[in-house]
Amino acid sequence: MTHVARTVAFKPGERNIFFHILTACNLACRHCYINPAQHGSDTLPLETIQRWLELFVAPGKTGNVIFLGGEPTLHPDLAAVVAHAKMLGFGVTVDSNGYLFHDFLHRTDPELLDYLSFSLDGPDPEVNDPLRGSGVFATCVANIKKAVALGFRTSLIYTVSSRNLLHLERMVPLLVELGVKKFFIQVIGLRGRSAGPATGDHVLQVSRDRWLAVVPEVAARAAAQGIQVTYPKVFLDQDEIFQCAGRVAENYFIFPNGRVYQCPLCEDYPINAYRIDNDELVKNEGLREDRLFTLDIPEGCVMNKLLQPDTIDYDAEGRPSHRISCCLLKQEIG
Ligand code: SF4
Ligand code: SF4
Repeated sequence: MTHVARTVAFKPGERNIFFHILTACNLACRHCYINPAQHGSDTLPLETIQRWLELFVAPGKTGNVIFLGGEPTLHPDLAAVVAHAKMLGFGVTVDSNGYLFHDFLHRTDPELLDYLSFSLDGPDPEVNDPLRGSGVFATCVANIKKAVALGFRTSLIYTVSSRNLLHLERMVPLLVELGVKKFFIQVIGLRGRSAGPATGDHVLQVSRDRWLAVVPEVAARAAAQGIQVTYPKVFLDQDEIFQCAGRVAENYFIFPNGRVYQCPLCEDYPINAYRIDNDELVKNEGLREDRLFTLDIPEGCVMNKLLQPDTIDYDAEGRPSHRISCCLLKQEIG
């Protein structure tokens, strides 16, 4: 059977809530986008998380919540948080770096989670550990095996950079061996640590040609092995329409300091469209991200043009050679 990638259209009537319940982490990955100066450094108490989750319940809409950090399993009450989210009717995913603190696997019923997601940035310690930390590969793989054995549906996130692009293909046999059901290929962005002097200017970024030469083919190969693969669209074809998720979808990126963004590219700036104030979701006034979403430009995504203009090529007439899609637009295969 031939597997063909399809673009996953933004779905009206669906809410995705990306809930950073803390920003603390035991690792210091090279491309980490967590920015405590902008996102806070608190660990939200269980009762606060429960009240904030309730703000996003919308009868008649499908709701998915993804718990993130930092490392969310550092939260001592994550198992109770998951149970509460499920009780509210959300589909629930936890994105972990693989360390699974506080005996998370044994304190959580696998049926409560849609997916327990792990992050690896290489198919072996030689590729992964320089990016994510010494010993991380072995710990993460051991815990994926435990999770699968206990009946958790597992997914894996691989963030592509210039350091690991050519090793992506070797992930396919590893995913098959581990029994991972879903594979998310991400692209490195110019946020957080990857934008800083520690890594040098843009050194981790991948060009359009290299991305297109590798990622779709590896995705198809994984799909042929029965794995569902999702990767960002990034570059729109000539006949595809541009849509900004901030205008046509409902995504909320919540941080412990109460900031609520609609666009992940805006997260390093105090331009969040919403905030949670006294346990109420409040719309912010003034020049905020939602004003930027309304700008129509030939390059596609406004925030990409503002933050990563070097990702856009122009022809001799000064027209962009390709448009950049919304970073939330995905391709799916499998
Ligand atoms: S595991 Fe996640 S939060 Fe922790 S340092 Fe790595 S990217 Fe950042
Ligand atoms: S990434 Fe670009 S297109 Fe997507 S929500 Fe943000 S500004 Fe809009």
